[in-house]
Amino acid sequence: MKELVVIDTYECNGCESCVVLCPEVFGMDETGDKALVLEQPKEITPDLEKAAAFCPQSCITLG
Ligand code: SF4
Repeated sequence: MKELVVIDTYECNGCESCVVLCPEVFGMDETGDKALVLEQPKEITPDLEKAAAFCPQSCITLG
């Protein structure tokens, strides 16, 4: 199944804005430096769209 949320972790600067805006989906990895997808959502929600829009690195892709 196609993943709905993909993070380009190379570009991620670890600002945690996505975690604040959408904690159901985003978390930080064990180093605390990069975001990760905790659980793939079933649908694109407004919170997800907001998290992607506010990512300063534009490294969240919603598909
Ligand atoms: S908002 Fe973007 S740059 Fe910031 S932690 Fe999330 S994915 Fe990384």
